[in-house]
Amino acid sequence: MDRSPAPAGAFFLAGNPDSMSDAKDLDPTDWEVFRAQAHGALDAMIDHIRDVRERPVWREASAEVKARFRRELPLKGRDFSRTLADFDAYIKPYAIGNTHPLFMGWVQGAGTPVGMVAEMLAAGLDSNCGGRNHIALDVERQIALWMAQAFGFPPDASGIFVTGASMANFLSLLVARERAAGGKNVRLNGLGALDSVLVAYASREVHNCVRQAMELSGLGARHLRLIASDERRAMRVSDLQHAIAADRAAGLTPFLIVGTAGTVDTGAIDDLDALADVASEEEVWFHVDGAFGALAALSPALKPLVKGLERADSIAFDFHKWLHVPYDAGFFLVRDPQTHRRAFAADAAYLSRAPRGLAAGETWPCDLGPDLSRGFRALKTWFTIETYGVELLGACIEQTCHMARRLEALIEASPNFVMRAPVTLNIVCFGVAEDADGSLAREIVMDLHESGEAAPSLTILDGVPAIRAAIINHRTHKADIDRFMELLEAVRRQALREPHPEPLAAAPRGPGRTRLSQD
Ligand SMILES: *Cc1c(COP(=O)(O)O)cnc(C)c1O
Repeated sequence: MDRSPAPAGAFFLAGNPDSMSDAKDLDPTDWEVFRAQAHGALDAMIDHIRDVRERPVWREASAEVKARFRRELPLKGRDFSRTLADFDAYIKPYAIGNTHPLFMGWVQGAGTPVGMVAEMLAAGLDSNCGGRNHIALDVERQIALWMAQAFGFPPDASGIFVTGASMANFLSLLVARERAAGGKNVRLNGLGALDSVLVAYASREVHNCVRQAMELSGLGARHLRLIASDERRAMRVSDLQHAIAADRAAGLTPFLIVGTAGTVDTGAIDDLDALADVASEEEVWFHVDGAFGALAALSPALKPLVKGLERADSIAFDFHKWLHVPYDAGFFLVRDPQTHRRAFAADAAYLSRAPRGLAAGETWPCDLGPDLSRGFRALKTWFTIETYGVELLGACIEQTCHMARRLEALIEASPNFVMRAPVTLNIVCFGVAEDADGSLAREIVMDLHESGEAAPSLTILDGVPAIRAAIINHRTHKADIDRFMELLEAVRRQALREPHPEPLAAAPRGPGRTRLSQD
């Protein structure tokens, strides 16, 4: 046997490619069988969405179920129907549950049947939306135009889909850093090229991703000033001005103010107009983290709350929260397209543009962010906005705020629960009466999760755990809020082992009423 190493550059597969008898590919051998299987899967998922109220919000996967995902790498495939059956048995029942009307945890969108179909169709096209000359980029551009219109930005504002607001907020720091660097070329020379340290400002209620963005960008989390908030949990503007003055006096360079439209904990909104004033006086970048709250601009009734958004230099927001586009669909919108491009565009031979053909075009999405290969997130967003229209989408956003008010009123009417923060939009933070350390609140949230009946989440307000109901879901209606309150009372009684006036299982059923599941 010849054991001498193959010469460099030699074809490493044995055999003559021309003599390969059976050509392989990954398409079905029988398209009609596949068609039936695929239709069956889609039908089942449509039923799954339709019947969401019939199921627990969440069920923890058992050890047996999890064991299904600890197998060896499969060498041989198997029939598609078996993969689908395993999806039904081992995956579908154990999803997080954010499609359910009594899911109120964190801040999560609920999806729509239309978004699901769009996602499937996008996968069929399998478009790579990093660049090049194809229609998907026009669809993405359409979304940027629409959002520029909705938020009062100029029509040439540039925008790009990213995974979520965390990424969009990160990009905002990089663009603001680029602007602050002036001619110093930090992309080439690093932060050491700057004359002084750059400092950013946000309220102490700001999402942690902004702190993380300071870490990741090399600017350093210690250079993010967390400004105190007022009784409505909005940034104290006079404190901001003092902090900026103190930093300037110390020889530092303020470069960025991050306002929040809808804080993640309580939904508080900074005074965006006042922040825009400070930013323009100080000549610093004004970015708004409007992850969910910016979309309040789609409701004429709520729009005044986000006044000043139209003056931002950039906005981070998510279509996957209040607009229910299936995960993931974050967006980053920038007023000045040149600065945006300057922060990311690069010359690489394989990305060079041609005057015509598939490599034509000027600005590609890969010039506006760090991703090169990227999916067609614009399609599910375009389907959502085209199909439902902004009036209905805005009305659903408004409805969640009404539901939050309803819950607030029920909490206030109950001797057993206390409000913990003002309700600005759709988030209700409350605690349990006589529960100074929040331990009962914590128990109640875990009990509710395990009951499968409802899923609020927990947050820490002023050092004490609070129950947080973030009502985002377009499916959450009055009966669901009333049911949620009944559940809270019942679970509290159970946690305290107080006698129950009537068995929980006897709670009336009907639309919006789910069983207290024991399974
Ligand atoms: C959800 C949220 C984020 C993070 O957004 P992702 O899409 O989860 O990355 C940031 N800021 C606020 C205010 C949020 O509500």
